[in-house]
Amino acid sequence: MYRLLCPDTTVNTLHEIDLNDLEKRGIRGIIFDLDNTIVPWNSLEMCPRITDWLNEVQAKGFKVAIVSNNWQKRVKEIAQRFNLPFVSRAYKPAKAGFRQALVVLGLQPDQVAVVGDQLFTDILGGNRLGLYTIWVKPLATKEFIGTKIQRQFEKLAVLLLRAKGLMK
Ligand SMILES: [Mg+2]
Repeated sequence: MYRLLCPDTTVNTLHEIDLNDLEKRGIRGIIFDLDNTIVPWNSLEMCPRITDWLNEVQAKGFKVAIVSNNWQKRVKEIAQRFNLPFVSRAYKPAKAGFRQALVVLGLQPDQVAVVGDQLFTDILGGNRLGLYTIWVKPLATKEFIGTKIQRQFEKLAVLLLRAKGLMK
């Protein structure tokens, strides 16, 4: 059970993600969470560095999709800027939203990485499907109240994972 909460890699920022390493692992597609992963929570402002990086990821040949638990209107607005396929109201950690994205990407679970800021939604959901999971620090401290509560459990989970030697 703990293992399902354990990301394959942890990074501080999106830019720390080693795209060459992903390529070597046979990863051909990346599923991104939206809120506090590529845009600050409930904001539509995107940092130019992230916009550039997302373009670079696609220029490198990775297929990209967004899977978010947020409402369609918001997810669509961001996804359309990059012409990306998206799944909104995904109810992560449920598998259905990720599965839908895999179909759109035309890839198998072992060819896809998921990048997200939350252990209990992005990482747990990705691990359940056998995706390569990358945990990134949240972009902003401003969050949905439910997420703030979940962060406390997240801290506990990290302590447990570290105690069990599953996470650095
Ligand atoms: Mg998020």
